[in-house]
Amino acid sequence: MGQMIYFDMYRREEGDTMCKVLEKIHNKTAEELLKEYDVYDSLPIDLEKLVTSIGLSVLPVDFTLLEEALNKKDILGLVLTSGNDAAIFYRKTDSVNRKRFTIAHELAHCCHLDPATTEPHIEYRIDEDKKDEFERKMDIFAGELLIPFKKLKEVYMSLEIPASAVLAKIFNVSVSVMEARLNYLKISHYNNKGIPVTY
Ligand SMILES: [Zn+2]
Repeated sequence: MGQMIYFDMYRREEGDTMCKVLEKIHNKTAEELLKEYDVYDSLPIDLEKLVTSIGLSVLPVDFTLLEEALNKKDILGLVLTSGNDAAIFYRKTDSVNRKRFTIAHELAHCCHLDPATTEPHIEYRIDEDKKDEFERKMDIFAGELLIPFKKLKEVYMSLEIPASAVLAKIFNVSVSVMEARLNYLKISHYNNKGIPVTY
């Protein structure tokens, strides 16, 4: 049996139609979040501290029942808002790296959701080539959050051989996420196969 999705229901104040947590982070950039919540210098980026400081609940969940109910497959994450609260749920069987990326990606959605929304946002796994512009934007935000440019440059310069796998380990992300970030920034590196990728 799947675990129930549940979190505390808070009532909004009379006349208050915005979710306070979403309102607080609305339209912020990844860098603004990292700086404002004082995790800019953590390595790997302290995602837990960030979401806790924002006031977001983050919980593992088994999506099996929801997938059956919606007749859909491969739910990776979910954003729910209720009253002044917002919560991110991620698939509990996912690896630490996958979980971190899902949370960062959902946090990107949280920054772009209308604070007045009451609709849940459900995240499905989508093939890379089927992703629309907006989902790509959320992935880029997640990359900026987990691998901030300044920190990446710092670590990159300290390495004798800038291999994507080594960098991925330091930042607690998957190699594919690290390579996407390096390619996006056009930073030369050795890829997972040991082949130099130059810009
Ligand atoms: Zn998404």
